[in-house]
Amino acid sequence: MIIDGKLLSAKLKAQMAEQVVALKEQYGRVPSLAVILVGENPASQSYVRGKIKACAECGFESILTTMPESVSEQELLAEIAKLNADERVDGVLVQLPLPRHINEEKVIDAIALEKDVDGFHPDNVANLWLGKPCIKPCTPKGVMRMIEECGFDVAGCNAVVVGRSNIVGKPMAKLLLDANATVTIAHSRTKNLAEVTSKADILIAAVGRARMITAEMVKEGAIVIDVGVNRDAETGKLCGDVDFEGVRDKAAHITPVPGGVGPMTITMLMQNTIECFLNRQNK
Ligand code: NDP
Repeated sequence: MIIDGKLLSAKLKAQMAEQVVALKEQYGRVPSLAVILVGENPASQSYVRGKIKACAECGFESILTTMPESVSEQELLAEIAKLNADERVDGVLVQLPLPRHINEEKVIDAIALEKDVDGFHPDNVANLWLGKPCIKPCTPKGVMRMIEECGFDVAGCNAVVVGRSNIVGKPMAKLLLDANATVTIAHSRTKNLAEVTSKADILIAAVGRARMITAEMVKEGAIVIDVGVNRDAETGKLCGDVDFEGVRDKAAHITPVPGGVGPMTITMLMQNTIECFLNRQNK
């Protein structure tokens, strides 16, 4: 079965749009997300467009600040400080990656914890690993929601995450651990990757290498979630880390690329914005 991230996202966004009507009645305003885009990277522009569009679909307010590639770190930090202080803003997001002359860590640190809708702030990360209330990073959160959709009991199963980045692989492993899976994290130094992945009841690919997960690396009946976004070298079309055509008949559930994890990441950003809104209203 194909897990349709676009369809699930549409359902969740419709639910949020209804919730926002009730929030407006209760609190007199709707959630508001501020997005800062630095430079003109086409992929970043496209992600930001998607985020602003999703805000409109959910009935949120959104503020888009675009800054030139040449913006100084100081100017960017000043803009973040302004949005942090703005009472009407619930979430602040700086689209990554940033130009080389800007220190990404410094920028993420500068976002107010209570407005950290991406869940990248070090205090948010610490809270996640300590099991304290926190904003969960959007991509892993979306993946968990997709697994939930399969009606599969995660507790006690073998989950393998391929990739160990701070934004996907590591938090993904923690969320699976929190759901009581037995978790293995694989990476570029893993020996016999196929042996490791073929034991997975749930296999998450978050690498960034086109179609590297092939059918012989997948256990029959597994849930296969493809986080990767790559360009096919020949056709130039988007494709995932999983050889979808080869794996689809072996997996019980599989996500497509595009139309899988991508839309769910944006939808979880909307959920996080509501969460920040409610946390701020109720503090
Ligand atoms: P990173 O480049 O930060 O991390 C990639 C990981 O893959 C690293 O941990 C690396 O290992 C591991 N890796 C590289 N080569 C291999 C290999 N041959 N075998 C096993 N592991 C390997 O990427 P991100 O985590 O940021 O993103 C991963 C993919 O997901 C990308 O395609 C990205 O575009 C996509 N993405 C999609 C999102 C969505 O919403 N759909 C959101 C975020 C990312 P090591 O640590 O040893 O170097």
